[in-house]
Amino acid sequence: MTKWVYTFGGGKAEGGAGESDRLGGKGANLAEMCSLGLPVPPGLTIVTDACVWFYAHGKALPPGLKDQVRAGIAGMEAITGRTFGDTRKPLLLSVRSGSRASMPGMLDTVLNLGLNDRSVQALGHDAGDARFAWDSYRRFIQMYGDVVMGLDHEVFEEILEDERARLGHELDTELSAVEWQHVVQLYKDAIEEALGEPFPQDPEVQLWRAIAAVFSSWMNARAITYRHLHDIPAAWGTAVNVQAMVFGNLGNASATGVAFTRNPSTGEKALYGEFLVNAQGEDVVAGIRTPQSITEAARLASGGDRPSMEKLMPEAFASFSAICERLERHYRDMQDVEFTIERGTLWMLQTRSGKRTAKAAMRIAVDMAEEGLITRHEAVARIDPAALDQLLHPTIDPRARRDIIGSGLPASPGAATGEIVFTSEEAVAAEKEGRKIILVRIETSPEDIHGMHAAEGILTTRGGMTSHAAVVARGMGIPCVSGAGNIRVDLRNEQIIAGPIVLNKGDLITIDGSSGQVLKGRIAMLQPELSGDFGRIMQWADAARRMTVRTNAETPQDARAARSFGAEGIGLCRTEHMFFQGARINVMREMILAEDEKGRRAALAKLLPMQRSDFADLFSIMHGLPVTIRLLDPPLHEFLPKTDAEIADVALGLGMEPAALRRRVDALHEFNPMLGHRGCRLAISYPEIAEMQARAIFEAAVDAARETGAPVVPEIMVPLVGLRAELDYVKGVIDAVAREIIDESGIGIEYLVGTMIELPRAALQAHSIAEAADFFSFGTNDLTQTTFGISRDDAARFLQTYIEKGIVSRDPFVELDYDGVGELIRIASERGRRTKNGLKLGICGEHGGDPTSIRFCEEAGLDYVSCSPFRVPIARLAAAQAAIGQGG
Ligand code: ADP
Ligand code: MG
Ligand code: MG
Repeated sequence: MTKWVYTFGGGKAEGGAGESDRLGGKGANLAEMCSLGLPVPPGLTIVTDACVWFYAHGKALPPGLKDQVRAGIAGMEAITGRTFGDTRKPLLLSVRSGSRASMPGMLDTVLNLGLNDRSVQALGHDAGDARFAWDSYRRFIQMYGDVVMGLDHEVFEEILEDERARLGHELDTELSAVEWQHVVQLYKDAIEEALGEPFPQDPEVQLWRAIAAVFSSWMNARAITYRHLHDIPAAWGTAVNVQAMVFGNLGNASATGVAFTRNPSTGEKALYGEFLVNAQGEDVVAGIRTPQSITEAARLASGGDRPSMEKLMPEAFASFSAICERLERHYRDMQDVEFTIERGTLWMLQTRSGKRTAKAAMRIAVDMAEEGLITRHEAVARIDPAALDQLLHPTIDPRARRDIIGSGLPASPGAATGEIVFTSEEAVAAEKEGRKIILVRIETSPEDIHGMHAAEGILTTRGGMTSHAAVVARGMGIPCVSGAGNIRVDLRNEQIIAGPIVLNKGDLITIDGSSGQVLKGRIAMLQPELSGDFGRIMQWADAARRMTVRTNAETPQDARAARSFGAEGIGLCRTEHMFFQGARINVMREMILAEDEKGRRAALAKLLPMQRSDFADLFSIMHGLPVTIRLLDPPLHEFLPKTDAEIADVALGLGMEPAALRRRVDALHEFNPMLGHRGCRLAISYPEIAEMQARAIFEAAVDAARETGAPVVPEIMVPLVGLRAELDYVKGVIDAVAREIIDESGIGIEYLVGTMIELPRAALQAHSIAEAADFFSFGTNDLTQTTFGISRDDAARFLQTYIEKGIVSRDPFVELDYDGVGELIRIASERGRRTKNGLKLGICGEHGGDPTSIRFCEEAGLDYVSCSPFRVPIARLAAAQAAIGQGG
């Protein structure tokens, strides 16, 4: 016989907290509290399998269920000394849904089930309180009529309102027994009139219809949507809890309430919650009456004028706070509890791990580790790395009024306020004057880098989460809202238009890159706190972690930020970014446009000192930590002007005819630049570029060694290698430069030459490439593009559809594709290390800052991950969690 029903009560329970898959979270924890000897009204849980059976059999109840429920109720009757359906001492029940995951959208709870026209009299007589009995009955009819029979709850609310008006009662005046009795009659009439059937009087009928309604609610539209949004499988089903009622509406020594065992927004170790005297069920959260504080301290802090539970019901409060402490110690986590006090006696009705802000999560984890409740590893494991974003950036004060004018995608977290500007030049100029600005563009391009750096925040009206603006802003740690389609940028009039609102250049706006909102004016912000609890957690994470965390950075500003966030080196310095800044782009263009090698060398000679000083800065900021520098990677025409106006402008600067420049730009055009003349292919066509870069690196290293006495070991990385011979060739160029400089300076230089693994061929030939490489760095942006054959820049258009249609579950440019790209990484690691034992392996794509991808890197045995500066703390934490998960 299948066991469909688990009972609890009288200090014993058939289930426990470990069985939430079968009992649902609520049922499992009720059983657990019961076994702990806490005061829990007796009850039973119908397991989730029964719900699954129900759907597999055309909404029929499984055989044996009714008998098992009857036996369970008999147990409840024995414990309470009351009888279900009895007209003298009736047992009343609550019917409560409860799935594995807590799920708003499911059936609402039905209380006081079992009441009818006869037992309501008995209830009143037994309690010596007729008002209470009729209040309970009207609540039951209202809840049952709404959630089981499907009559809109407003019907009942209107009847009650009219009645109050007729009687001349205020909203908070308690009705008398006779008055409630009249309301009950009106309710029953309304049901009969609307549904053509009377309110069921038979408790058995009431019970089974309520149980079937809970099962049916598993497939209601709200529940389906919620499951969809939270990845909860429909196949789980919901449990049903049937429990003996206790009454918080039995006069002024009775109450009902909800509480957190610690403050869920600050994490402070103090009971935090609310209660209502003479109330039942959801009255506390319903907002009809204003609830009172549970503790006296909270009452004083909030200036409440009505007494706390601590003052009003000291005995119940004492047992309640003792139980909360007990629950915390037992579950080893902050709990969210529901309770009722019936004539001075406390009853526990629910417990579960409480939801909390990122800040509270930190504080609670640190405090609990310090109290010895959990280990440091557990404390580290409990923080959601993604939630750190909330802590690393200024955020809008939740109490501030928001004047929302539009919204887009939450592309890069944090909030920022500034004056509107529309061009990168204006942004840079404003920054020099010390003004704070928000750069507003339709979309951004690589030439906007300096403007983006100067901005407090970036707003684009086009583009997705992986648009240029979004990726670069995340990398820089600058808040960004992208694709705000309901805002129009009018460049001619230098305005933005959002419906009826028009804002001009220079007007203040605020963007919230965590929610995607665009707001008018300046708004109060909360500043991030990186010391304290955050610092402790990071310290413990660092102790637990195996992989190193480096950063992707090329500017001193980014390198410094990354160091302050705990980066242990640079894993990727993209040298091309250094060529976009200021006057350099013109020298770069001169080099690209040169007719021959001689012309190129002349321009490169001008670039050399600029690069050298950039590298020297990075070496000194990183102070002996490893620095990986990638040789020039993008196709050259990215540096060239595009529009006629830009061409005219650049031609003037270079002393060229615009037509001649146009011809040269056209000649460099590529059909598919991503797979075109880029990466090491540039160094092979124009070895003088690689020579200049190598020279800049080595000279900077020599200078740093002379200056600080600390030798720098530069790691030079060759991009887009597919063939071993490509790496051999470029390494030959680098080695030759090194020999020259060693001869010139008389100082020995240690350096590494390695390669990006970002082409499937390189991964497959890793054993051969490893013979020439000192390290591999997985460039997972390109490796994802080349493995899937999907261009990242064009993917936004169809990947969203893929996700919606369930073809892929996550954007593979955000979360590493474990099966395909991951397989190539595993192959390359294994083959590479077979050739060179201990070959250094790292990852430097955007994935290096994604917690799930970082777990993959741990499993694949990589030595380090590298990510944008603001993601360094996230990566440190995620790497620690991955190591702990591996049993570290
Ligand atoms: P939810 O999942 O929406 O929190 P619950 O099943 O926990 O729904 O029920 C909501 C409220 O109903 C509880 O917090 C409690 O106040 C009341 N309640 C539920 N069961 C009982 C009971 N057996 N006795 C008294 N009140 C109950
Ligand atoms: Mg509840
Ligand atoms: Mg690449």
